[in-house]
Amino acid sequence: MLRSALLSAARSPGLRSAAEHSALARPVVDRFVAGADLDRALAVARQLTADRFVSMDHLGENTTSRAQAEDATSAYLSLLDRVGAEGMADRVEVSIKLSALGAALPNGGAELATDNAASICARAASVGTTVTVDMEDRTTTDATLETVRALRRDFPDTGAVLQAYLRRTEADCAELAGPGSRVRLCKGAYDEPSSVAYRDRAEVDASYRRCLRVLMNGQGYPMVATHDPALITYAEELAAARGNFEFQMLYGVRPRAQRALAQAGRRVRVYLPYGSAWFPYFMRRLGERPANMMFFLRSLTSRH
Ligand SMILES: Cc1cc2nc3c(=O)[nH]c(=O)nc-3n(C[C@H](O)[C@H](O)[C@H](O)COP(=O)(O)OP(=O)(O)OC[C@H]3O[C@@H](n4cnc5c(N)ncnc54)[C@H](O)[C@@H]3O)c2cc1C
Repeated sequence: MLRSALLSAARSPGLRSAAEHSALARPVVDRFVAGADLDRALAVARQLTADRFVSMDHLGENTTSRAQAEDATSAYLSLLDRVGAEGMADRVEVSIKLSALGAALPNGGAELATDNAASICARAASVGTTVTVDMEDRTTTDATLETVRALRRDFPDTGAVLQAYLRRTEADCAELAGPGSRVRLCKGAYDEPSSVAYRDRAEVDASYRRCLRVLMNGQGYPMVATHDPALITYAEELAAARGNFEFQMLYGVRPRAQRALAQAGRRVRVYLPYGSAWFPYFMRRLGERPANMMFFLRSLTSRH
């Protein structure tokens, strides 16, 4: 209930603009977001790379103009240039959202987003790193997977993301478990109806296990994106005979567990968002854990 309300608030342009312009929110948001600008984000990435890997996300989604889509693309190209110039390409990749690159624009938005994503993949390849295409809400799943397939023709190491809460995902895992296929498996962060998604926690977790088995038994490279201790243990069991996979967690979520896994010799990648368009991302993080909401409200009220 609270989660649905937060996810619906995340789509409100008015709330988004008010929150993103409020100086009060920034210190709280910084728990999950590595600052508004690239310099700060790269400094955080550098620290994390001491023991982990990183996937950087220039925040933004649901772009409403071609100019915004171009700006988002340029931001990624500048980011990748800096990653290359600063010698971090072996540990730092990028995550992109097709809706930030123009996918939802009328008259050719899908093609525009695919072209913009291809430019980003080309720049990533030229500096020696990779791109993973985030998965957004259910209305975009087919188009996003289609774009990943198109990108993989020239850039076979482009990562896909699958969401275990969708009923279709076990079949998508089987399709995407081919040689070299990088697939991030997450539970899913949007508010989806029961016609297409499991809504019960236990059902989502059971689906995650089934999907993970398919990926771990396949020939690709599973990227196990969860903070759930039971699923992490399950992944360790499945992976006992296989070294070729990684754990992924969000910046600011269970950092001690991230470091412990890295110390135990696991490959751990931190998803690191930065930028000023933080509102929808932040609201999804609040929705995942009601305690975050209390922390957020307390910090706002304690400043008055
Ligand atoms: C690297 C990465 C990339 C992702 N990319 C996508 C994507 O492209 N598309 C998409 O839909 N979703 C994405 N997600 C989000 C994902 O779908 C889940 O919403 C999110 O990870 C919470 O699920 P969980 O597996 O951690 O399990 P949960 O059962 O939600 O959480 C397990 C435990 O982890 C901790 N935890 C989880 N979330 C939080 C939080 N926000 N704050 C504090 N503690 C928390 C708590 O201790 C909780 O008990 C991504 C997640 C990760 C880690």
